[in-house]
Amino acid sequence: MKIPFDNSYAKLPSQMFTAQLPTPVKDPQIIVINAELAKLVGIDPAMLTGDSAAKVFAGNHIPDGAAPLAQVYAGHQFGNWNPQLGDGRAILLGEVIGTDGIRRDIQLKGSGPTPYSRSGDGRAWLGPVMREYLVSEAMHAMCVPTTRALAAVTTGEPVYREEILPGAVITRVAQSHIRVGTFQFFASRGDMQALQALTDHVIARHYPEAGGPADLLDMVIARYAALIAKWMGLGFIHGVMNTDNVSIAGETIDYGPCAFIDDFHPDSVFSAIDQYGRYAYSNQPGIGAWNMAQFATALIPLMPDRDKAIAGFTAAVHRFPDLYEAAWLNIFGRKLGIAAADEDDRDLITDLLDLMTKDGADFTNVFANLGLQTARDQFIDRDAFDTWHARWVLRKSPDADAIMAAANPRIIPRNHRVEEAIAAGRDGNLAPFHALLKVVTQPYAPLTDETATFARAPTKDERVTRTFCGT
Ligand code: AMP
Ligand code: MG
Repeated sequence: MKIPFDNSYAKLPSQMFTAQLPTPVKDPQIIVINAELAKLVGIDPAMLTGDSAAKVFAGNHIPDGAAPLAQVYAGHQFGNWNPQLGDGRAILLGEVIGTDGIRRDIQLKGSGPTPYSRSGDGRAWLGPVMREYLVSEAMHAMCVPTTRALAAVTTGEPVYREEILPGAVITRVAQSHIRVGTFQFFASRGDMQALQALTDHVIARHYPEAGGPADLLDMVIARYAALIAKWMGLGFIHGVMNTDNVSIAGETIDYGPCAFIDDFHPDSVFSAIDQYGRYAYSNQPGIGAWNMAQFATALIPLMPDRDKAIAGFTAAVHRFPDLYEAAWLNIFGRKLGIAAADEDDRDLITDLLDLMTKDGADFTNVFANLGLQTARDQFIDRDAFDTWHARWVLRKSPDADAIMAAANPRIIPRNHRVEEAIAAGRDGNLAPFHALLKVVTQPYAPLTDETATFARAPTKDERVTRTFCGT
């Protein structure tokens, strides 16, 4: 297989990574390959079949031009500083420039240990690989900036967790895998050479309009605020918004215990390790600002006048809530069929969310069916809904139906469907995975007899209330 690599990270100062080959696996078998994405990154789809592709996407064969490496970073995990993390089970094969002119990383995840594995085995099991594949591709289809999935393979080797599980490797594509934590690593060590090189690299690669660190901070803040507003509009809970899981390119990255809300409640938490709800749905924007404050802190050493920089960067971080609120208003306005929502519409939106909370209405289906009787059926207090509905009918735009059809997915990767696909996959049946992947990558398509079942909210028994990192 030919991959048109054009590597730039590998040319940065050597303390920023460790050259590291993947560890070959016993019996690589392809689960799925993303032909459309392969084309975008310049891989001939004709090369995507058979043994040779399985070997590449398992790390058994290193294609010409690759420069495999593991990146080092640090991060605040649940608010606690961890001075050294890194790609513990991921290896960057290299970068490609897509047919759209955008540079992207191609990374294997689950491909064996690296110097940053700590006590981990560098592996992944099939479940989290399937989850990341499904959710990242669904997010992309819902127009959310995200890492994407190029391929998934099984390894033919067991992975030892609390149980013995089938091993797998996912190939992830991202604008880069540089994180807030990458900046924090070098800033915390006072490694000015690396911090400057990293900043120059990120500006050239992701923010060429930026004149320096101050502009870079502004631009990252703007992208991250817009990203989190998009998550909120889909009822998406990332689950591990640690600074090492915040992409500098503003993409959703590191799909671990992530989840989508079914019955709406703003304080929803799914992740089993998020004991105190730090990363609850409603906390995501506040944590977003906190993460940007950490990014700002890491950039300070680059600034000639420290006091002036602190004042300027503080003001920049304080703009995060306003940027977020403006994006949120626009997104939820469109979800209600309002072309350009203004501050007066805020109550209309929050009143609906309050009703949904009170009655445990299904987030996705209320928005997808607002014009229909089925939305009303989601509520217990029908009078309250009818009163709200009358206000909404007066306010929505003339072309509300078209706006809403584009703003409200009908099918999301519901937690119970993802779990169902994983359970079947574990038993060797990949049909549910493929069926789910097909529908979640066409989230706005009108429902058919065949797809309607994927739009259905879970029954009480089907409801998933806890998700796991599943590393
Ligand atoms: P995460 O919570 O997935 O962002 O992971 C936190 C850190 O732990 C990252 O640096 C990962 O690379 C590392 N890690 C997670 N699972 C493993 C594993 N099975 N083997 C080695 N490192 C791991
Ligand atoms: Mg991570």
